[in-house]
Amino acid sequence: MKIFLTGGAGYIGSITTECLLDEGHDVVVFDNLEQGHREAVDSRALLIEGDLRDRDAVRKAMMSAKPDAVMHFAAYALVGESMDDPMKYFRNNVAGGVHLVEAMLAADVKKIIFSSTCATYGYPDRVPMTEDLPQRPVNPYGESKLMFEKILTWAQDREGIQSVFLRYFNACGATDQYGEDHDPETHLIPLVLFVAQGKRDKVKIFGDDYDTPDGTCIRDYIHIVDLAQAHILAVTGDHVGPFNLGNGSGYSVKQVIDVAREVTGHPVPAEIAPRRPGDPDRLVASSEKAYEVLGWKPRYPDLKDIIAHAWSWHQSHPDGYRA
Ligand code: UDP
Repeated sequence: MKIFLTGGAGYIGSITTECLLDEGHDVVVFDNLEQGHREAVDSRALLIEGDLRDRDAVRKAMMSAKPDAVMHFAAYALVGESMDDPMKYFRNNVAGGVHLVEAMLAADVKKIIFSSTCATYGYPDRVPMTEDLPQRPVNPYGESKLMFEKILTWAQDREGIQSVFLRYFNACGATDQYGEDHDPETHLIPLVLFVAQGKRDKVKIFGDDYDTPDGTCIRDYIHIVDLAQAHILAVTGDHVGPFNLGNGSGYSVKQVIDVAREVTGHPVPAEIAPRRPGDPDRLVASSEKAYEVLGWKPRYPDLKDIIAHAWSWHQSHPDGYRA
């Protein structure tokens, strides 16, 4: 298939591009390179530099690509920033998304796989989390993703655009070539690996008084290659609607740091810091629906493998893509 892939210079988009190409698909990447890296775009893909907020640019790119389907990764994705500047999030993640759907209609493209998030659920009533839990986002980032899910639901109902929402839990890991390089970096695993690399002195644990066995927050860490595989199953299959993507097993912040110590052989000093606003105690997926309906099965469910792959990429790219 030919895929029009927004955000293909970013972390999840670049690795999905690589996996699609490895399986023989064609990929046209649409990215403004504001957060992404040109070096992260596989040379077998065509890169069109453009911004989703530029309605004409999206339309022109879509018309020239004439893809079979769209994968939509491009978005702002920092919870804290979204609290400080909500309109930035709605303009890009929602208005930009509308431009994308309009371009699809103009080019008669009838299928989209959308990068959604467990942040659309807010504080869940129960874990493991199934897709039918109420969606009550607690920050503009999660709200922007939920709004675009709703827009796509109407696009499906009124315009016949088949829409799949993949609600990711915590994406991590790397391939040999592509990995995680955000500026600023806020995610736990890369920050822990920065300490092991000697780039930082210690990692901060944001709160140890949560309602969990060791008091630190529990998250569901899922390998980026497994996420990419779910996209390929979704685009080549015939299903619509939401799918949670996680391993179904949660690890606490302290457990993540312990596994990183084991993998890297570095003591990784850690200190307890205040809670980060908006962090639920536990976010763990039930991915039963993805297993049963999409036939998805994570290849790297073990956190040790996930951290080992990320570590290997950080070692071969000590300064990220800037090297
Ligand atoms: N976290 C932490 N120290 C850090 C970064 C993150 O203790 O320097 C915690 C954070 O509070 C959360 C978990 O690690 O409980 C995962 O955070 P991350 O930002 O990686 O992903 P999120 O769950 O926010 O999407």
